[in-house]
Amino acid sequence: MSQTLMKKHGYEMLKCVYCGKCCSVCPTFNQIGWESSSPRGKMKLIHGWAEGKIPLTDHLINQLYLCAGCEHCTVECPSGIPIVEIIKDARKELVKTKRGPIEPLRIVNSNIQNECNFLGKPKEERMDWTIFEDVIIEQVDKTEFLYLIGCQPSYWCSEIAASTVKVLKESKFEFGILGGEEWCCGLPALWSGDIGVFKEVAEHNIKAIKKNEAKYVFTTCPGCYLTTARDYPRILGKELGFQVFHITKIFYDLLKEGKLKFTKELKVKVTYHDPCHIGRTFRKFEQPREILKAIPGITLVEMKNNRLDSNCCGGLLASVSEELCVSLGKKRIKEALDVGAELIVTMCPQCYVNLRRSAIEAEVDIRVIDLPMLMVEAMNV
Ligand code: SF4
Ligand code: SF4
Repeated sequence: MSQTLMKKHGYEMLKCVYCGKCCSVCPTFNQIGWESSSPRGKMKLIHGWAEGKIPLTDHLINQLYLCAGCEHCTVECPSGIPIVEIIKDARKELVKTKRGPIEPLRIVNSNIQNECNFLGKPKEERMDWTIFEDVIIEQVDKTEFLYLIGCQPSYWCSEIAASTVKVLKESKFEFGILGGEEWCCGLPALWSGDIGVFKEVAEHNIKAIKKNEAKYVFTTCPGCYLTTARDYPRILGKELGFQVFHITKIFYDLLKEGKLKFTKELKVKVTYHDPCHIGRTFRKFEQPREILKAIPGITLVEMKNNRLDSNCCGGLLASVSEELCVSLGKKRIKEALDVGAELIVTMCPQCYVNLRRSAIEAEVDIRVIDLPMLMVEAMNV
């Protein structure tokens, strides 16, 4: 039973008219097929539990964590039910009553607390990517524009961070980084329901950014962007004092100012995978496509589901169910192959890592790349 949930969402959950629109777009439901794995089913379960009519079983708890957070259901729901917010609030209640998060996410949260990154890598190695990638970034105490690199580009896919730095330097765009002072943005903790861990890292990052006196903060990770731009002020209840952008905006502005010089022709058929948290959440669909169209030689083709209807790659499920995560990635790869794409471009480290892995596991002939990496190729730097 949860009075908090009933007070906040009791009425909203009753607005479900069982139309099933959310079910048809939910990647988790379409893979698992049980009503309890659908957004509609989750609303029913949460309502029953909050009312005290459905017991909080392990099955129910697991179902509440089997959600990719893609927001496709929320966009489709004719009753305007904030499905993802309700699922996230239910997880908060699970953590409050010590029934959540599930074990893999407990590990992720303790990684954040112990090593300041969700991957559990040594915190003192956060800047090692600059050595592997042979990238020089001058450490400065103060900067107007600050690049928050994110956990995955710092440890797992440093090619994204390195390419971003190369593109910005080539375009004479000045910026700084926090180096070892950057911690995980807190998204995994927040989405697991652990507000305590989230607040700890959010407060630290805000303090570090303010010490740097940055006016503008940008990220290559849509998750870091969503969390910093939307969740920090909303959950901490205070103004940030700086603006946050996803790198797409900066690249697009540089393109319009004529500062991106694509000198190499890339003869390739490309499709763009919209990451959920810059696409559906912030409706940034056209800027990355405009950048792609500006690269000579590229033919841009659209997958059947694109922009607002884009299918989630499942990346956010990586810590919860690798099997589900990769099977959703493979489905998206198939969509790209169906339109004859030779290359999938995305703008998200999580999508990049998951789609690349899914393509390898599917043993298909398609390349996956993050946009800054392709820009480096086209700029010949
Ligand atoms: S956010 Fe995505 S995965 Fe989660 S319930 Fe909605 S459609 Fe399904
Ligand atoms: S789309 Fe909304 S109203 Fe329709 S079944 Fe899903 S939750 Fe209910």
